[in-house]
Amino acid sequence: MKICRYCGGVIRLVPASSIYGESAERLGMKEEWLYQCQNCNARVGCHKGTKRPLGNVANEVLRLKRMETHQVFDKFWRAKRMSRTKAYRWLSEQMELPESKAHIGGFEMEQCQRLIELCRKEQKTEVAS
Ligand SMILES: [Zn+2]
Repeated sequence: MKICRYCGGVIRLVPASSIYGESAERLGMKEEWLYQCQNCNARVGCHKGTKRPLGNVANEVLRLKRMETHQVFDKFWRAKRMSRTKAYRWLSEQMELPESKAHIGGFEMEQCQRLIELCRKEQKTEVAS
């Protein structure tokens, strides 16, 4: 991944602190890395503690969608009293993804939407039963 899929700009590996500044520490990202388009600012995070990207770089619309999806998913598994590990296993099964790919931070638009719908569906079945 060297060329941006949105604008063809150059993608560089940068420390999270170069994007988040002082708040990198508060966000627990002080030691983390991101891939960032030097032209349009599309970006994607890395697997914790590595320089392996979670997925494709995201423009602002997709970044917001990934954030929204994360909120829905976290709320979902906490309400279900699942452990984090169990929640991500559920995610990878439902989305038919290997666990190494089951990271919302690397999801595309359609995958985000699919996960949101899966969470909603699963929530409903429990209420009904
Ligand atoms: Zn770009």
